Order: sequence, then structure tokens, then C-alpha cells
Amino acid sequence: MTKIENLHKKSVSQLEKILWELCKQIVRKIYKDCYTCPQKNLEGMNAQSGHMHPKGACGALMKYDLRILRLQCFQCNINHGGMGATYLENMKLEIGDKQALALLLEAQSSKGKPIKARDHYIKLIGDYRKLLSKLNETTNTTGNAEARGKVAN
Ligand SMILES: [Zn+2]
Repeated sequence: MTKIENLHKKSVSQLEKILWELCKQIVRKIYKDCYTCPQKNLEGMNAQSGHMHPKGACGALMKYDLRILRLQCFQCNINHGGMGATYLENMKLEIGDKQALALLLEAQSSKGKPIKARDHYIKLIGDYRKLLSKLNETTNTTGNAEARGKVAN
């Protein structure tokens, strides 16, 4: 409860930072391989969190939405600009053509949609902290103890 109270004192950009850190940790917990090329067991700087649609072009509602976040290598996410076309193709294989296109449309149309970002972020932070601790309980094998400590505090 106190965690939630403290969050209300933070600026939106501070909340975004916390939220993005949580997203990255969750994505690294769930996925191990690059979503858009054959690279496997990504680690450190090479373990990036990609958006199906560029993060900057997503609105507050979708920027931190786990449905569009997948693990990508540095090459795909940074050097190759996110590999959007391959990303979409793989998303179609994963969740179905219609669903993947609907998700992309949702991401595209989220930009500029007026929402209360602060309230949305605070809710997501709570949800993602719970999810991450659940993931940590079940897969307690990777070496990001430091990251886990941060979340526990
Ligand atoms: Zn890659």
C-alpha cells in the first residue's frame, strides 16, 4: 500500500522510468531469444525490449503494453530499427493474423489518445511488480539478482 502512495508523488517521467525498467525485466524473464532473427540466449545490452511499433510513436496507453513487447537483439532493435515487418509477421504466427493486425492498429492509434497517463502508469506499476515477483518465484535461475532487489524495495 505504501508503495502506491509514494508513486503518487512521482513525476510522470519518473513513473515512466520505473515502468520501463519493469517491462524490460519482465520481457527478459519471459523471452530468451530474439523475436526477429535467429540469435538465441540474449544477455546484457544485447537483450533489448522491442515494440512492434516504434515506442516514440506509441501513446501512453501502449508504450508499456506487454502484448506488443518482445525480446530483441541490439542489432534488430537498434541498428535495424526494430524490424517492424518481421515483427508483425512473427506476431501473426504467434497470435493470428487478425489479432496481430488489430494489435498494431491499436498501437498506431494510441498516439495522441487523451488518457490519464499518471493513473494508468501507477496501475501498471502495481500490476507489473506483482507479475514480476511471480515470474521470479517460478524461474529463479537467471542472474539478475540486482534487478530483483530493486523491484523488491
Ligand atoms: Zn535479432
